[in-house]
Amino acid sequence: MLVRPIYLDCHATTPMDQRVLDAMLPYFTQYFGNASSITHQYGWEAEAATKKAREILAEAIHSSPEEIIFTSGATEANNLAIKGVAEAYFSKGRHIITVQTEHRAVLDPCQYLESLGFEISYLPVQADGLIDLNLLEKTIRPDTILVSVMAANNEIGVIQPLAEIGAICRRHEVLFHSDAAQAIGKIPLDVEQMNLDLVSLTAHKIYGPKGIGALYVRRRHPRVRLAAQIQGGGQERGLRSGTLVTPNIVGFAKAVEIGIEQMLEETQHLLLLQTTLWNKLSQLEGVHLNGHPNQRLPGNLNVSIEGVNGSALLLGLQSVVAVSSGSACSTTSTAPSHVLTALGHSEALAYASLRFGIGRFNTLDEIEQVAESAIATIQSLRQANVSASLGIT
Ligand SMILES: *Cc1c(COP(=O)(O)O)cnc(C)c1O
Repeated sequence: MLVRPIYLDCHATTPMDQRVLDAMLPYFTQYFGNASSITHQYGWEAEAATKKAREILAEAIHSSPEEIIFTSGATEANNLAIKGVAEAYFSKGRHIITVQTEHRAVLDPCQYLESLGFEISYLPVQADGLIDLNLLEKTIRPDTILVSVMAANNEIGVIQPLAEIGAICRRHEVLFHSDAAQAIGKIPLDVEQMNLDLVSLTAHKIYGPKGIGALYVRRRHPRVRLAAQIQGGGQERGLRSGTLVTPNIVGFAKAVEIGIEQMLEETQHLLLLQTTLWNKLSQLEGVHLNGHPNQRLPGNLNVSIEGVNGSALLLGLQSVVAVSSGSACSTTSTAPSHVLTALGHSEALAYASLRFGIGRFNTLDEIEQVAESAIATIQSLRQANVSASLGIT
């Protein structure tokens, strides 16, 4: 087999942890029952497994198990939260607040709601990627029904001050939703301490399977009302019909359990690799760190590089390292990243950016190799630019 590039794109997805796969396997062939089958043992087995998984996930965010609604991932959870609240509360108000740097799975449902007559305020961010809490508070109106602010950004890794945002929302009696796809299992989440009312989760960013996630929906103080977006058999308290995917649910819980168990040591490991990479890259002139220097995910490093062409840079690196660029990571778009332009970057600088997503299985040796190649590629591209501008071919 061809030698594959070093994988540093853990914000896109992560390899599954072997322990997660091991936990899942019996639920494909042996314990294959439908968790809704209440008349026989096969159903009870599946139900018991999903119940245990629900308890693990609930404990991870300090909620109760009944408040966990399984979905196909964070995209669906975000859709359910945002459209579900809009539909349930539109007679109270039609104003929603979110942030310019959110994932498309938040921005697009919001845009859709605009087309239905809702009004959305897209908060700008400061140069470090954090929102301005005073501005948030000033933007809340009597008809605001929801504030949606992500926990950790998928491009620049910035961690928003959820507890402070939650306190503001609670004071104004506005529901608070957070897309925590990049946060669960990596940083502490506490729905009580942070006054969170809705939280979107997914498994495949934390070494779990793709195609499973959850929405936390608060049931008391206040009880959140939600309109289902998928109707059918009435699973998940009627909020998300469809047969529960037992193996994925078991794997999701296992992934979260491992993430929380290992959080301290894993953070140390990722910080070492992140710091090493940054210390090496920042020896070059004109390399900028995007996002807050330490209020960020330990596995994230996002840099913009002056004097190089973004696509040439990616091309030069693609045999060495799998990373993503500063262009939007949606399937169809080649526009510069809306997150980097929200930080105030020019289009050219936004294009000439690299997002390194370092994960559990990366090693210091890999980071050193990547740093070396990146530096060499940047230097040769800059040299070529200088030569070209002097007319040397
Ligand atoms: C990956 C990601 C999503 C989408 O999650 P899926 O489970 O793939 O649907 C949503 N929001 C953020 C912040 C993400 O990083």
